[in-house]
Amino acid sequence: MQGQLDRRRLLAGAGAALLVAAVEGCGVQALGARPQSLRKSSLKLARLRATTDRITQITVCTRPFRAQGPRVEAEQIGQKTIVHNYGHGGSGWSLSWGSSAIAVQKAMAVGEREVAVIGCGAMGLTSALLLQRAGARVTIYAKDLPPNVRSSLASGLWTPDSRICFEEHATPQFKQMWENMARQSFRTYQNLLGLPGNPVEFIDNYFVSDEPNDASRPRLAADTRPRFAELQRELIADLIPRSEEFVPGSHEFGARYLRRNTMMMFNITAYAHLLISDFLAAGGKIEIAEFHAPGELAKLREKVLINATGFGARALFGDESVIPVRGQLARTIPEPDVGYGLFYKRVSFVPRRDGLVFQVVGDDDYYGFDDDSTAPNRAEAELAVNTIAGLYPAA
Ligand SMILES: Cc1cc2nc3c(=O)[nH]c(=O)nc-3n(C[C@H](O)[C@H](O)[C@H](O)COP(=O)(O)OP(=O)(O)OC[C@H]3O[C@@H](n4cnc5c(N)ncnc54)[C@H](O)[C@@H]3O)c2cc1C
Repeated sequence: MQGQLDRRRLLAGAGAALLVAAVEGCGVQALGARPQSLRKSSLKLARLRATTDRITQITVCTRPFRAQGPRVEAEQIGQKTIVHNYGHGGSGWSLSWGSSAIAVQKAMAVGEREVAVIGCGAMGLTSALLLQRAGARVTIYAKDLPPNVRSSLASGLWTPDSRICFEEHATPQFKQMWENMARQSFRTYQNLLGLPGNPVEFIDNYFVSDEPNDASRPRLAADTRPRFAELQRELIADLIPRSEEFVPGSHEFGARYLRRNTMMMFNITAYAHLLISDFLAAGGKIEIAEFHAPGELAKLREKVLINATGFGARALFGDESVIPVRGQLARTIPEPDVGYGLFYKRVSFVPRRDGLVFQVVGDDDYYGFDDDSTAPNRAEAELAVNTIAGLYPAA
């Protein structure tokens, strides 16, 4: 009987988890149909020093969301072929290698061997490296370089369907493209594991709740807003490790419910450094330049350009389909002993080696939607840290 109850509870929990699957940094991945296992063994986790005096930085950034998904297509403007590669919402790092591979194929198809990349974030850097590997001579032109790009302000988890498009635009053709992007990126990331500085690694993430099924508030019938597409479970469930459940009392978070997922994490400082170093070592050039209108691109010597300007494409190309989705990170002093992530009461904690990351992620993917304000909110940062601190028994 107890076994049946536990099983029912776990299945309900898995269903509820899907509701929050697309929030990057939430510590929950869309789960496949595979059964979860119930663990009763005790779990020991290094205690996190989650105190607000350890906040070193509060950063705000806007995700470049497009209802119809990323724009990866070629456009002829005057003498130039511009291959767009922007609008990846909350999935830019996660999809970068696969999306840039498509952009590079389109750029190389023109037949030129000198190619410009506009932008030096996740998309610009991966486009530039893949162009070099395809035999091109590449110059990156960008207003800002890491760490002063939006990509440097991401949570740093492999979340390939986070705010990637609205469900109504997830056509079979889109799904095919997304799956290719996700799989190619995942494969590429496996070759970046185990490197000095740990640019990429796997971590355990614990989804903690006070109630057995407390994964997300149910969507109200009156909520007629478009739904964000959730694609992982349908298309790449085989890439997602099975989750495990820990019963209340078998871990240090007391009478709470715990579900463990394993996820890929990017230590963005080390990772961006690696990408730039590899690009320069292969003869790549970087020039600081800001463009205010597409016409200004005519001055560049290259005939083929990859446009990887992210949220900047909204102003540069007048593309108002790019919608800002605000996200704020509170960064605290690194703690090398803490190698696990947490999600509790709509707050995510990511154990990045380049600074621990605390983030209020809200009830759903509309949190921060159409908000381009970039002023840091100290109260929100402290709420994030204090919520996670509340998990640990008083010292
Ligand atoms: C809070 C938060 C958390 C996130 N977490 C994750 C996560 O965990 N995993 C994940 O995969 N994604 C995450 N994302 C999403 C990810 O950060 C973005 O999708 C990604 O950064 C987009 O990269 P990009 O290269 O397109 O753009 P950017 O990083 O914005 O790079 C754009 C480049 O273009 C340049 N540029 C722009 N305009 C111009 C111009 N007019 N002239 C010259 N240069 C210009 C910029 O200087 C910059 O170099 C998160 C985003 C936010 C906000």
